[in-house]
Amino acid sequence: MNKRIYLDNAATTKTRPEVVEAMLPYFTQYYGNPSSVYDFSEPVKEALAQAREIIAGSIGAKAREVYFTGGGSESDNWAIKATADAYQSKGRHIITSKVEHHAVLHTCEYLERQGFEVTYLDVDEYGVVKLDELKKAIRPDTILISIMFANNEVGTIEPIREIGEIAKEHGVLFHTDAVQAYGHLPIHVDDYHIDMMSASGHKVNGPKGVGFLYIRTGVKIRSLIHGGAQERKRRAGTENVPGIVGLGKAAQLAMEDMERRARHESGLRDYLMARVMEEVPYTRVNGHRTSRLPNNVNFAFQFIEGESLLILLDGKGICGSSGSACTSGSLDPSHVLLAIGLPHEIAHGSLRLTLSEENTKEEMDFVVDSIKEIVQRLRDMSPLYEDFMKNRK
Ligand SMILES: *Cc1c(COP(=O)(O)O)cnc(C)c1O
Repeated sequence: MNKRIYLDNAATTKTRPEVVEAMLPYFTQYYGNPSSVYDFSEPVKEALAQAREIIAGSIGAKAREVYFTGGGSESDNWAIKATADAYQSKGRHIITSKVEHHAVLHTCEYLERQGFEVTYLDVDEYGVVKLDELKKAIRPDTILISIMFANNEVGTIEPIREIGEIAKEHGVLFHTDAVQAYGHLPIHVDDYHIDMMSASGHKVNGPKGVGFLYIRTGVKIRSLIHGGAQERKRRAGTENVPGIVGLGKAAQLAMEDMERRARHESGLRDYLMARVMEEVPYTRVNGHRTSRLPNNVNFAFQFIEGESLLILLDGKGICGSSGSACTSGSLDPSHVLLAIGLPHEIAHGSLRLTLSEENTKEEMDFVVDSIKEIVQRLRDMSPLYEDFMKNRK
């Protein structure tokens, strides 16, 4: 098989052809600036309004609570920095978790250097935030809780409803990075008491470089990008019209067949997982068994280096990841795997595979056969494995 098998949909997804098709007229035909007054810009304004309606509808929000951004990282930065800015007279304490995406973690670290205090909550062995620790961490000067909806590495879905309730009870704002969850899981901002929510186009078969931040009416939040009056004066810059149209289309398609897609992906994922666990010894699955994104599996193979495994899988046309795309290239093991309690040497042997609706059972069989062969080959070269096998006898 010389085909490419793409299993890195947590890093990015293929833009659906229908999405590209929806975007195209907004490059060459409807290219007017939506801020202009003439008639030529009317269809452009309408397209923006329509995309905003679709997205608002997809999370139970009002259209004017949806702000388009340049993607997930910008939405996270904006939510956290601008809340810190607007609410610092009330307090300078923020709560987040140890397993957040770097867009959240590095923003919090930046704020610490500006004199804010940040509590990084522990998670249990499955990657679930500890709710009793959250309750204990809340102080009179806590202004924000930022906990992700679902983890991009181990796939664990956090108890968002409970976190939202705790935040509401204590009068603390709640932001969630829903970049991995949006379009894959049902989300309703009122049911979950979410005040702010980040999402990104390219993680839901939409274009790259566009996303949105939901901001509940009444939340005081400053601009991150200063300039023109776009996005209700909260996010300046001429709108990325084709990108926003594409995001709207991707959202619409994702909502239409979320259940069917989740069933297909989790079916294949469970099949892959069962075969690997049965046929590759000294392997564990990281993340929660059931409260988990439908398309995610994360393995740790003892006695091997995840990076070597990735390179050899790549040689067979299989695209996987050792954790998050952001940490690859660095030799540090993933902060998420360390937070769930994996020792360094096991965290190093991790492999994340994230499926899409295009994957097939034949692909899964080829992937399992390849993993089996490569893991055995790497173990045969490992002195650790040799010692382990000798001591066992
Ligand atoms: C990909 C990702 C981001 C960053 O989104 P971009 O649109 O690439 O900036 C943030 N958070 C999570 C959980 C992600 O998976």
